[in-house]
Amino acid sequence: MAVYNPKSLNAEEFINHEEILETLKYAEENKNNIPLIDSILEKARPKISGKGSVASGLTHREASVLLACDIPEKIEEIYKIAEEIKLAYYGNRIVLFAPLYLSNYCVNGCVYCPYHYKNKHIPRRKLTQEEVAKEVIALQDMGHKRLAIEAGEDPVNNPIEYILDCIKTIYSIKHKNGAIRRVNVNIAATTVENYRKLKEAGIGTYILFQETYHKESYLKLHPTGPKHDYDYHTEAMDRAMEGGIDDVGLGVLFGLELYKYEFAGLLMHAEHLEAVHGVGPHTISVPRIKHADDIDPTAFDNSISDEIFEKIAACIRLAVPYTGMIVSTRETEEVRSKLLKVGISQVSGASRTSVGGYSEEERPHDTEQFDVSDQRTLDEVVRWLMENGHIPSFCTACYREGRTGDRFMSLCKSGQILNCCHPNALMTLCEYLEDYASDKTKEIGYRLIEQELNKIPSEKVKAIATKNIAEIKDHNRRDFRF
Ligand code: SAM
Repeated sequence: MAVYNPKSLNAEEFINHEEILETLKYAEENKNNIPLIDSILEKARPKISGKGSVASGLTHREASVLLACDIPEKIEEIYKIAEEIKLAYYGNRIVLFAPLYLSNYCVNGCVYCPYHYKNKHIPRRKLTQEEVAKEVIALQDMGHKRLAIEAGEDPVNNPIEYILDCIKTIYSIKHKNGAIRRVNVNIAATTVENYRKLKEAGIGTYILFQETYHKESYLKLHPTGPKHDYDYHTEAMDRAMEGGIDDVGLGVLFGLELYKYEFAGLLMHAEHLEAVHGVGPHTISVPRIKHADDIDPTAFDNSISDEIFEKIAACIRLAVPYTGMIVSTRETEEVRSKLLKVGISQVSGASRTSVGGYSEEERPHDTEQFDVSDQRTLDEVVRWLMENGHIPSFCTACYREGRTGDRFMSLCKSGQILNCCHPNALMTLCEYLEDYASDKTKEIGYRLIEQELNKIPSEKVKAIATKNIAEIKDHNRRDFRF
């Protein structure tokens, strides 16, 4: 029997089934243990220190106790601390991105995904480089600067060379004032050598959802194809880091297995990356299973309510305070609003989950990966964020300035966000307002920028940011960053 060891490179030792079962038992036994819950909440709360504010995060056991607790006042406290942490380390900025589906060819048999190879109703499609360029122009014309590329796993149709060509095309398109400045990649687990190639191609984050940490379920949910190999999939982030990618994004597909199990596994994965590589995950995504062609989400009986979903997000925020948290358009405006309050730092906007979806007028459904619940335009999403007190940010500066991995984490921990990320958010928002926003959004946006400039603590930084914003507006200059 495998023994739990966060430092091991063996999937069954760092995501250890017995340790998860022990954790769930401990959490259940202590879910009404108020002194323990209070001490965990106290540990999670950000504290002011000489260098700014620090939050120690929580272990998977501690966070699992909070997740199990159903005492209303304690849950309220969890939400309050989650919001405090979000504001302390990420400020009121929300980073925007869009997924770009390159190919739906796939050789895997994942039972929850419409791209599974047995699905004969969906037309299979793979973008040519000309089509990639068209999609990128459409995305730039909306105002996007950051993409997450998505593809099925198919070594013949979507080999790594194809993905690399697409990345090159995406970065090469400069249409009007548009540019894609950061390409994150969500493709199947691969080799160290391929991760190295992705790193050399200039990718931002490598994202790979675990889908489920429960090995037995994993094997049933992925009955055929290379993705069936649980260990290879679970150890992918270690190979990515070995290949030089130090920003990796984790996630589970909620609804496949029991959420408490997934939650403990997810945090153990984060602890493992920290223990082995000295840096935790850059982001955690919280996708929930959705209806799609050939997929009925009710066939999966572990679906979670909106309330539990909100609690999961808040507990993640407490456990890993410096990790960005992403919610996609799988969720409705209402759910996204609630999640933003408890610590989400990145959202997608105006997403199309079909191959070639952005360059088509009508939302094409035939190759969609899943139904999109939030179908608003990017302009509407930007305005909605501002009306709810957030700063929509199109910033990509950290990765372009080499602030990845632990360098990003130390910026986050040092409390320098207000002198760095905050002005970057305002400058990129200004670019968006000038180039893409409706009049109404522009009016709200400029009022917000004016107010928010005053929050920059350093007078020097404030003066530079103010000057740059004037340059963007009056002299059509772009791409300033701290
Ligand atoms: N093919 C790649 C892989 O194997 O990891 C990743 C790309 S896939 C396009 C992105 C993610 O979509 C998957 O990791 C999965 O979690 C999610 N997904 C698949 N089917 C879904 C569904 N029916 N509803 C919601 N999300 C789904």
